[in-house]
Amino acid sequence: MPPSEPFPKGEKICVSQIQHFSVNDGEGIRSTVFLSGCPLRCRWCCNPETWTSTPKSGRLPGAKEETFGRFLSVAEVMKELVRHAIFYRESGGGVTWSGGEPFFFPGNLRALVRACADRGIPQAVETTCHFDWEECADIVGLLDFVFADIKHMDGGVHERLTGIGNERILSNLKRLGATGIDAVVRVPLLSGVNDDEQNVARTARFVREHFRRPKMELLPYHDFGRAKYRMLGMESFWTEFETPSKERVAFLEALIRSEGVEPVSYR
Ligand code: SF4
Repeated sequence: MPPSEPFPKGEKICVSQIQHFSVNDGEGIRSTVFLSGCPLRCRWCCNPETWTSTPKSGRLPGAKEETFGRFLSVAEVMKELVRHAIFYRESGGGVTWSGGEPFFFPGNLRALVRACADRGIPQAVETTCHFDWEECADIVGLLDFVFADIKHMDGGVHERLTGIGNERILSNLKRLGATGIDAVVRVPLLSGVNDDEQNVARTARFVREHFRRPKMELLPYHDFGRAKYRMLGMESFWTEFETPSKERVAFLEALIRSEGVEPVSYR
């Protein structure tokens, strides 16, 4: 894990993007805030600009330069979010913290989450669950909903795919389940990599065992981020992966259901 001191640059946080009117990251109309910094290096990642905590610039041949990310204070983030509070209220939505990994700089996330909680804004998080639980439990306690990933149940395969084993992730998921917070476990589904029945059924059994209202969302792999790698001059591994067919996803959702877990979709 990184040093836990907040605000990598003075009193500012590196925010990769704030996406308003989002409907895929929780209930109702939401603002999704993508915070920079991530401990994983998933080989299929479509947001490589969020890996480190500084803005990134790049360009495609013949195109003008594009910058991903900006440094904002908590007050500046809140000013932008509060303008959309009426949409959250009317739709049952709120704010979703995403990344990168939002817990990568716990001090930053804590400051933001507290500011939203003070204003009564409902909050969700999209997390890898790779963080120090003791250090972050108070933040989890202020959230209304958690989307947490399990990318593979086998620790060795998980490490080959993401650069990090899954021990801490599974341990945190057990603790998350014990809090009783509403949660969905997401699997980014990669054909021939983690979409075998054994892995999906094992994931479903884990979710059923540790969550009171066990729910899973299968997210078929996509390569929407491909251009960013070229833009930022980064090595990519897109050719390694394929999207599972609709039929395969439907089959796996039925498998999940047969294991006692509700398949859900926010797409
Ligand atoms: S956890 Fe998300 S942001 Fe981090 S490397 Fe994986 S896909 Fe990318």
